Amino acid sequence: MPAIFVGHGSPMNAVEENEFTEGWRAIARSFPRPRAVLCVSAHWETRGIAVTSGERPETIHDFRGFPEELFTVRYPAPGDPGLAREVARLLAPREVRLDPRRGLDHGAWSVLVKMFPDADVPVVQLAMDTSRPASEHYGLARGLALLREQGVLVLGSGNVVHHLGRIDFGREDGFDWAVRFERAARERILAGDHGALVEYESLGPEARDAVPTPEHYLPLVYVLAVTGEGERPVIFDDRVTMGSISMMGVAYGLA
Ligand code: ZN
Repeated sequence: MPAIFVGHGSPMNAVEENEFTEGWRAIARSFPRPRAVLCVSAHWETRGIAVTSGERPETIHDFRGFPEELFTVRYPAPGDPGLAREVARLLAPREVRLDPRRGLDHGAWSVLVKMFPDADVPVVQLAMDTSRPASEHYGLARGLALLREQGVLVLGSGNVVHHLGRIDFGREDGFDWAVRFERAARERILAGDHGALVEYESLGPEARDAVPTPEHYLPLVYVLAVTGEGERPVIFDDRVTMGSISMMGVAYGLA
């Protein structure tokens, strides 16, 4: 099963049809339906490791200031408590908290509503302890690679460049520093250089602006960790928009 990182960008993508959502749909059409999705989203940060374990995860509207339409979106995909327990087992001896009450955040559902619009593929979310360094995330996520052989799609949802403080909503393209950082990351992805991508501060002086906080970048690290360094990446939606948001996605394991 593939492992895919998606740049989710604005929550409005959930209710719009645009070049980015078309990219998500096209990728989802290019491989067989997964048994389940394990999603690592920028929008679930915890202390320690946690995983959703409810049968019916609710749709969390974790944003403010958007049109009412967005608050009416529901993504009723079932959970998969068995997969949640399997994730905990694979990450042992680290302690993993099973959270039966936590629902799906917009990093997950705004993308999944386009990739699997019938909401018939079970979804489990894995939280990130963003107080820990990227290398630690990479190390623990290595243990999840086995899930791909069991029909589970590993989906990272974030943005390689994400700086809300410098966003320009009216701007279609990216600031020079944002474009440079996206390009540097893309080069390392194509070269299979996981080390440089995990140590993203070394990708260039733009890293400070591109990744001011790690939560939108780290889902990429999870996707890298479940792939082999020789696996061929397919880049999609590779464009910076609104000045400081990279929408670049990368898929591994496509036929
Ligand atoms: Zn986000």
